[in-house]
Amino acid sequence: MNAFEMAQAQFDKVAKLINLDSDVSSLLRWPLREFRFQIPVRMDDGSIKVFFGYRVQHNDARGPSKGGIRFQPGETMDTIRALAMWMTWKCAVVDLPLGGGKGGVAVDPSTLTTGEKERLCRGWIDQIWKNIGPRQDVPAPDIGTTPQMMGWMMDEYTKLSGAYTPGVITGKPVGAGGSEGRIEATGFGVIYTLREAIKHLKIDPSKLTASIQGFGNVAQYAADGFIHQLGGTVIAVSCWDLVDKTPCTYFNKDGIDPRFLRTITDVYGTIDKDKAKKAGYIIETGETWLSKDVDVLIPAAIGGQITGETVEQISSRVKIVAEGANGPTTPEADEILAELNIFVIPDFLCNAGGVTVSYFEGVQNDMNYYWSREEAISRLDEKMTNAFKAVLKISQEYEVKMRDAAYIVAINSVVQAMKFRGWL
Ligand code: NAD
Repeated sequence: MNAFEMAQAQFDKVAKLINLDSDVSSLLRWPLREFRFQIPVRMDDGSIKVFFGYRVQHNDARGPSKGGIRFQPGETMDTIRALAMWMTWKCAVVDLPLGGGKGGVAVDPSTLTTGEKERLCRGWIDQIWKNIGPRQDVPAPDIGTTPQMMGWMMDEYTKLSGAYTPGVITGKPVGAGGSEGRIEATGFGVIYTLREAIKHLKIDPSKLTASIQGFGNVAQYAADGFIHQLGGTVIAVSCWDLVDKTPCTYFNKDGIDPRFLRTITDVYGTIDKDKAKKAGYIIETGETWLSKDVDVLIPAAIGGQITGETVEQISSRVKIVAEGANGPTTPEADEILAELNIFVIPDFLCNAGGVTVSYFEGVQNDMNYYWSREEAISRLDEKMTNAFKAVLKISQEYEVKMRDAAYIVAINSVVQAMKFRGWL
């Protein structure tokens, strides 16, 4: 099952549960618009290399499409479709007046020089700029893309459109139209939903341990928040080893220090092995983060990690899976987690902090007035907490798991917007 089939299977299950009209269902299980284009880039050695770029706009009934741009080898139209669809549900579940979109380029950005990256970013905008904009579709960073890249993209759009338009893209650097709090937003959002889950399950947070997949943007701040906000201990994080082309798990039974590890991690979330070894970390080859004897698992790297096969590695001690990544759990594994009575905070609720502060960034760009970090973070907490409580309430009312409850909240609000606009 690929990512898009997985996203459709999750949707179909809930569409049936709420007796969604079959025509409405057909409309929602596919994106409204899809773009695939070629981007020729002049490389530093003078040659031309052509990359495939994508942008998918799944649904914009509630507002302009919103969603990140991935620079990742192996991206396909189907992975982007799945992510665009999840963005529609994500914006709806946290009640943002936005729809769902996603974009990408099939490329490993770590193989490009700074100049090549800038030309690729500008080339992506050159191909799609007429179909995006603050009132149409607003991209943002995701795996393999950074605030600097968003700055180049905003600049290219501004040049083509002839008007300074910071609101065309979010996740820009602070000082170039970016919002305070955006960098930590997704990881902290994971922690706010986790805090609410812990309260609901009546668990003492100070005794909790966690193991995290990934050490990029989401994982770094989720680890930080787990320790410094909840008072728990993170014993393992992982990353993709760019040299050996394998995943590696960085382990310390007494607790890792994410603030130190961040100082030895590159912009792609790759930890410097030698420096980590010198600092006393045990480095294990493979996805051993999943089998650690902990209370909380936070997949925060890539999709399709907890599957029918890998789910068996999960320790019987695990009580909560907080899905920082998009699509980390397959439907088959989801059923098994439910049987094991593991509380899953579903991806499009758990990781909605990034898009929430991205929305705040767009609001600030429109006002041309910028908030303090404290204001952005406290509004983020409020949005995430309210969303968690609304989903939990539906989960109790319908007697369904949190993922299905989040789908019920999101689908109902998108359908209502489509009705109000006369689409149905
Ligand atoms: P990132 O590029 O900053 O970090 C990704 C991490 O995953 C890195 O540590 C990398 O080494 C690791 N990784 C990559 N490929 C791997 C593999 N095959 N096996 C194991 N580890 C691998 O990305 P990010 O922004 O932290 O995003 C992580 C996840 O969270 C993605 O699923 C993304 O879609 C999702 N997400 C991100 C945001 C955001 O604001 N950044 C918001 C919502 C959801």
